[in-house]
Amino acid sequence: MLRGLILFTLLAQVTADSWGGLCAGNPSNKVRGTDKFGSGAYGASRGSRKHKGVDVVCRDGSTVYAPFSGRLVRRENPFGNGNAIDNGVRLEGSGHCVVIFAFAPDRYTGNVSKGQKIGRMLEMQSVYPGITSHVHIQMCDTSINPTRYLRIRGGGTP
Ligand SMILES: [Zn+2]
Repeated sequence: MLRGLILFTLLAQVTADSWGGLCAGNPSNKVRGTDKFGSGAYGASRGSRKHKGVDVVCRDGSTVYAPFSGRLVRRENPFGNGNAIDNGVRLEGSGHCVVIFAFAPDRYTGNVSKGQKIGRMLEMQSVYPGITSHVHIQMCDTSINPTRYLRIRGGGTP
């Protein structure tokens, strides 16, 4: 009985902590595996640097959703070079602060609810032909690994 209660409490916490699906067509937040440009895992090698976020598989043109309820704060330009995927947004709320990029946000400020459409995946294939197209998400504090929040219960994320 007690064990069941503890398990229930743990599961409830995991569920409460878990983010929603980021991209239409990928409800379990499947993470990009290794392709010729590298791996989508947090901390993966990027030459002399490390990958600061997690790449969630997302086909070009797909709808992108808010992973949790919060407030859009500002535009983010991750590449700073104006390429076709140099767009994104900062989202704060529900105890988290993240930057999501490689998509075209519908807007850059204002409140959003978990699961609400916030934009559309950009044409990543035009910049990196053959890559596994993906939305990149990282914590504002990039020393934190966001992977555990992306694991959706029953989703079977590898
Ligand atoms: Zn990435």
